[in-house]
Amino acid sequence: MNLRKILVTSALPYANGAIHLGHLVEYIQTDLWVRFQKMQGHECWYVCADDTHGTPIMLRAQAEGITPEALIERVSVEHRRDFAGFHIAFDNYYSTHSEETRTQAEEIYARLKQAGLIEIRAIEQYYDPVKAMFLPDRFIKGECPKCGAADQYGDNCEACGAAYAPTDLKNPVSAVSGAKPELRQSEHYFFKLSDPHCQTFLREWTQGGPLQTEAANKMQEWLGELGDNRLTDWDISRDAPYFGFEIPDAPGKYFYVWLDAPVGYMGSFRNLCTRTGLDFDSFWNKDSQAELIHFIGKDILYFHALFWPAMLSHAGYRTPTQIFAHGFLTVDGAKMSKSRGTFITAESYLAQGLNPEWLRYYFAAKLNGSMEDIDLNMNDFTARVNSDLIGKYINIASRCTGFLTKYFEGRLADVQNEIPRAIEHGARIAPLFESRDTARALREIMALADQLNGDIATAAPWVLAKDDTQREALQAICSRALHGFWVLSILLSPVMPVLTSRIARTLFGLPRDFLWNDLATAPDTVLPYQHLMARIDPEQITALLTANRQNLPTPSQEPAMTETTSAISIDDFSKIDLRIARIAEAAHVEGADKLLKLTLDVGELGTKQVFAGIKSAYDPATLVGRLTVMVANLAPRKMKFGMSEGMVLAASASEVPGLFLLSPDTGATPGMKVK
Ligand SMILES: [Zn+2]
Repeated sequence: MNLRKILVTSALPYANGAIHLGHLVEYIQTDLWVRFQKMQGHECWYVCADDTHGTPIMLRAQAEGITPEALIERVSVEHRRDFAGFHIAFDNYYSTHSEETRTQAEEIYARLKQAGLIEIRAIEQYYDPVKAMFLPDRFIKGECPKCGAADQYGDNCEACGAAYAPTDLKNPVSAVSGAKPELRQSEHYFFKLSDPHCQTFLREWTQGGPLQTEAANKMQEWLGELGDNRLTDWDISRDAPYFGFEIPDAPGKYFYVWLDAPVGYMGSFRNLCTRTGLDFDSFWNKDSQAELIHFIGKDILYFHALFWPAMLSHAGYRTPTQIFAHGFLTVDGAKMSKSRGTFITAESYLAQGLNPEWLRYYFAAKLNGSMEDIDLNMNDFTARVNSDLIGKYINIASRCTGFLTKYFEGRLADVQNEIPRAIEHGARIAPLFESRDTARALREIMALADQLNGDIATAAPWVLAKDDTQREALQAICSRALHGFWVLSILLSPVMPVLTSRIARTLFGLPRDFLWNDLATAPDTVLPYQHLMARIDPEQITALLTANRQNLPTPSQEPAMTETTSAISIDDFSKIDLRIARIAEAAHVEGADKLLKLTLDVGELGTKQVFAGIKSAYDPATLVGRLTVMVANLAPRKMKFGMSEGMVLAASASEVPGLFLLSPDTGATPGMKVK
């Protein structure tokens, strides 16, 4: 086999907050790709670091009354602990606030300057006269210039989605001090991306194969046609006070955090090289034959697919071989939310006693190498882990090992004739791991488990064991089962490294973890079965969500005012009896083109029949069993088709098609009041 030399990175987490499940999508995806490469025998190095610079970290440290160095040191300890908890096996985890990163950033800057790609220009920017600092866009708030919504950030409006410059905001205030900001001039340093050399380079580079098709198309959009000159120069400096690296020969000017963050990949690798004697240049030289792979979220594609390769190339370094972007995580179909308890930190997941390999398995089962978002559905998570991992996989060993240890001193019958098929499975599944289509890899692996379970059920070793004359048949089926378990464990090793390591060592007596090549051999003995993995108890999920549900802000006492709705008092609102209802039955109504007939279970209020105008949007079969919200004290109405005793709530808008039935969060039960 042709052995590869690969350097892999994940995006650097920002050092002012906790690692949450949204972050973990990327680290788990990267880690299992790296583990897969290492199992194949390739030389693969995985480095990362905390991203430690910038205004938010400076201000947070001030607010806590500590130095930025103390803050990033504390966060680094937390981040390392969380990553280790999820078995993310970095070869080096470092910090961008390091001499290696500083030296590297200064060198790249000097080379860009030498190439004539750095320009100094005066710009006008908001300045906080109380804090005596220039304000980043995110630290200026005001009214949206488009829709007038209050309390919007300086770069875009969350109410209407408009993007604008901070100077467009109406009645701007500094989010740091509350002062009215002043416009002041300052000299900034720019990387001249608009330079024809950069434009030509990026047009060729982004279309040359390092990006997923969807990402390459996005770049094409951003770059436009030749001569469009859509790329503007990139502002790479910030004025003091700033926590970062001061630009050489420019006192009071600092590198913008996004300049030194990707340089942190090099800094972390340089640090690894110093510790281990690896050769830095053979990975980063312009003519390097090593692969350089960046795993990132799709939100930072711009930095990694435009700024970063342009910096590297014009500073005389190699460019990335591949940039693998993934989508965002939603939980139960919605953005992670603190009020719903779905903004789940890595720490709290582990603190609830949930097994990190459950989540590794679930994320792997959802990821397919594209930039699509993935959803962590809590019910599906529980069902899938329990059915796939316990019901299909672990079950094979837990049912069959005992017969081999009890009757055959742990000896397996000869299963050599199974090996060619195992090698075939490996050859079919390896390219799926390589292309990050782990969803399909795991479907194929679970199909193998299904087949094997079918064969075990047919042979029924528990029946054979009762008959002394069937010993050979008993040993044969249990040996096939354990060889199958060996194969499945090898194939699942990148996803569940700790579980499969325990299987290799305590069940099969190997002195090491599995390698991909172990598919070409078969075990001849097993050791007594020891408990391998527990099921998820749904109570654990409920406890996890409760632990992460933070106090909702106290609702304002004043009723919301808009132009189109006149205000009602809280007493008016409380006249409406809103209840959680379970749709017990749903049926078409003969002769009605819009209505469905729903039978609702409203807990203590009993059963209610409601005719709902939702036929265009829902197939009745999909509604049965789900929870929704109903108005329970609406006066009953006699309709052509029967009595309607209430109303279910659905969202709609005139400009968008569709009707959307409301659903409560997990935990609500029929009859609960909504208020
Ligand atoms: Zn707006």
